[in-house]
Amino acid sequence: MPAICGIPARDPQGVDREYQSRFDPTSVTTHRHFPVDATVLAGMNKENVVCFDAELIARYRGRGPRYTSYPTALQFDGGFGLDDYRRHAQLSNAAQKPLSVYVHIPFCQALCYYCGCNKIVTRNTARVQNYLHALHREIEMQAELFDTGRTVEQLHFGGGTPTYLDETQLRALMQALHQNFCFDEGETRQFSIEVDPRTVDRSGLALLAELGFNRLSLGVQDFDPQVQQAVNRIQSAEQVRALQRHAQEFGFRSVSFDLIYGLPHQSVASFDRTLDEVVDMRPNRLAIYNYAHLPARFKGQRMIRDEDIPEPKVKLDILHHTIDKLTEAGYVYIGMDHFALPDDELVIAQQNHSLQRNFQGYSTHGNCELIGLGVSAIGSIGGSYVQNSVSTIEYEEQIALDNIPVKRGLVLDDDDKLRAWVIQKLMCYDALSFDQVEREFAIGFRDYFERELALLQPLADDGLVTVDAAAIHITPRGRLLLRSIAMVFDRYLQSSQGDQRFSRAI
Ligand code: SF4
Repeated sequence: MPAICGIPARDPQGVDREYQSRFDPTSVTTHRHFPVDATVLAGMNKENVVCFDAELIARYRGRGPRYTSYPTALQFDGGFGLDDYRRHAQLSNAAQKPLSVYVHIPFCQALCYYCGCNKIVTRNTARVQNYLHALHREIEMQAELFDTGRTVEQLHFGGGTPTYLDETQLRALMQALHQNFCFDEGETRQFSIEVDPRTVDRSGLALLAELGFNRLSLGVQDFDPQVQQAVNRIQSAEQVRALQRHAQEFGFRSVSFDLIYGLPHQSVASFDRTLDEVVDMRPNRLAIYNYAHLPARFKGQRMIRDEDIPEPKVKLDILHHTIDKLTEAGYVYIGMDHFALPDDELVIAQQNHSLQRNFQGYSTHGNCELIGLGVSAIGSIGGSYVQNSVSTIEYEEQIALDNIPVKRGLVLDDDDKLRAWVIQKLMCYDALSFDQVEREFAIGFRDYFERELALLQPLADDGLVTVDAAAIHITPRGRLLLRSIAMVFDRYLQSSQGDQRFSRAI
């Protein structure tokens, strides 16, 4: 299981007395390597400073987008078709930006009960072969749209479970990509794959390294046996520790772990034991996702008993403790749910202003245009977003007709581009300079965003942001509530603050 899957849109709860006073959610705590006076914090912005204010979090934890794109995928519409995509691919060739390629492998061997991804749990090899046959054909058709001189600097295999594929299938897929696209062979290329630790051993990692992958994202979630039993995902800490060791042996440049809080039977104490293991293994990056229990929407979640899910207060305690523990262990809080070691590329990209948010979350290589390959994959090309069919049957039918299976999309207008830029800056750098926006987009910031600045005032009154004549700064108190701040600039949201299709901000 992958980085982003399993978390999509939900939320939930256990109280551990030992931690109850220490992690009192009504308290305001700062997270640094040393105590910092709150008044000093107000004037600071970046650095590894997060302020956990449970009262504010409870007040602002309405539902909202994760802004992996702006406008969000909810705005994509079926009026955008294959001809539109072809036109935007041509526009994109004129700009000659490098490429990022996402490949979606939807298959899984077993169902994790918490999962909200678009996946197919199957052992049917014919079904997998049919899909791969279509995917190979899509690679050829997509590659024809793009100039051969455009190099692929970034590649990501996601799912589902990309490591569901066997050696022959993975080799053939990489070969097809190499035959049809021009891969960057330099040191800075970023080729990553989501790994289910249950599906890969030492030789599996050796294969991935040989195929050119240099980054791994491991679905860890929680090491507690009772939690694992309740979500039907049994994998030992030793399994993951061995993979981490082998990843170093084979020269992977970065290993990322995904964890989930809010799973059944979790408590601060139980999750603390998982964090002990994780911190000891020292992955380069960590993503801590929030599980929301929505059994009416996701059938698999009906296997999880409501009464086993931690209370909201406990969930906040777990998050609070996690932030404490990871920052004390030297991890830098990037934003949203991401942490990284100080020498990780994400931290460096944040410092040198080349960080971006894309459909994989926070990422480097913000200069690339994105091609999405496979069922439900999303691309971002020439000022447009495009998504493939989400049904495997429809996807394969369209490919059989020699059509790239474009299902829907969106052409960004000038206002979309401006707001996307503003939201990116806020989510990646916790700050927005009016002067910079005015230079980029030839607008008067205060006039253009008069309404938004008024909407921001209550957030400023609550200490989430400061707004002066030149800039908006997100304070340490606001860093955990980035979504709520970004939502002010989302013109599509209007009254959909409680939209059930979005996950909670925390
Ligand atoms: S069911 Fe598949 S996609 Fe979902 S969490 Fe498990 S491995 Fe990941």
